[in-house]
Amino acid sequence: MTDLIDSQRTGRPETGPDRLDCAVCGHVPAAGVSFYRHVGLVVYVRFTRVQGPFCRDCGLARMRDATAETITSGLWSPVSVVLAPLAFIRNLRGRRTVLALAKPVPRAGQAASNLAPLPPTRPVFRRVKSWLAPAFLVALVAVAALVNDPSAERLNVVGGCVEIDTFLRADTADFVRCDEPHDAVITSIETSYESCAGAYVEQLYRYYCLDAVDGAAPLPNAR
Ligand SMILES: [Zn+2]
Repeated sequence: MTDLIDSQRTGRPETGPDRLDCAVCGHVPAAGVSFYRHVGLVVYVRFTRVQGPFCRDCGLARMRDATAETITSGLWSPVSVVLAPLAFIRNLRGRRTVLALAKPVPRAGQAASNLAPLPPTRPVFRRVKSWLAPAFLVALVAVAALVNDPSAERLNVVGGCVEIDTFLRADTADFVRCDEPHDAVITSIETSYESCAGAYVEQLYRYYCLDAVDGAAPLPNAR
């Protein structure tokens, strides 16, 4: 870090809160804490340390920014499962440390710093983005769970049943459970309509050859 201030370069021992100056504003008291920021975007992963020491105000501002950035950019890679909570826990611990410090003041007997402690930034959960990203993630997981639901019954299989939608007079068909009213049974699934001996319906470039049941509506593409 290059933003060490003079008092630290001159070798004042960095132990005890009264010995440290804030790395941002040079005020005291400061604590030797660091905050962590994780960015995880699919394959781009970064875990950075925002190094102190920080006074109460600068520490809180740095902690909020690092945590908010981790929430918005740090939930999107496989390793984020580990790294994002790690950043949160460390930041919470550091937050407790800096909040225990007294109000930052210039060091006694030293020329007043022309730097002021950082203004408090917006709290993490009063930032809209801090809610959008987790909400999006929850929606994503929910959709993935629905799509992969192993208990969902697959209806578009050989032996499955089809109800023809005659209302729209288009050759649309719904795959239905065979204990519901249906017009035809799927006899095979082909990649070309020519492979079907008789009626068929097409969905997503797959051709479902149909065998009509008694009393069924006229089947589409019957030959
Ligand atoms: Zn400060």
